[in-house]
Amino acid sequence: MSSLTFAEYQAKCMETTGPIEHLNQEEMYSYLVAGLASEAGEVAGQYKKYLREGGEDRLDSMISELGDVMWYCAVLSLELLGNDYAMEQAATRNMTKLADRKQRGTLCGDGDDR
Ligand SMILES: [Mg+2]
Repeated sequence: MSSLTFAEYQAKCMETTGPIEHLNQEEMYSYLVAGLASEAGEVAGQYKKYLREGGEDRLDSMISELGDVMWYCAVLSLELLGNDYAMEQAATRNMTKLADRKQRGTLCGDGDDR
């Protein structure tokens, strides 16, 4: 299996956006946010079915749906930041936040500003 950098993955995602060029900026944000939420819901749906019926295939389907979530993360981050390293920036920002929380002992708890 080959590996991809975030930038390479993001570039490949942009090759598979489908016909969305007609959307203006606000519509593009709406489309991508709705798609991200929809795909996250599909992850939850597969897990719900796993809890109800079991089956390793449901867990494998969750991996496929996580890929769909990642696709929307890649394209949405590019739309928001406008550069080839947008997804990497989002991931790095997240890791910086979590490392800070770990250092301060606030990984658990509530709220974005802990
Ligand atoms: Mg899906």
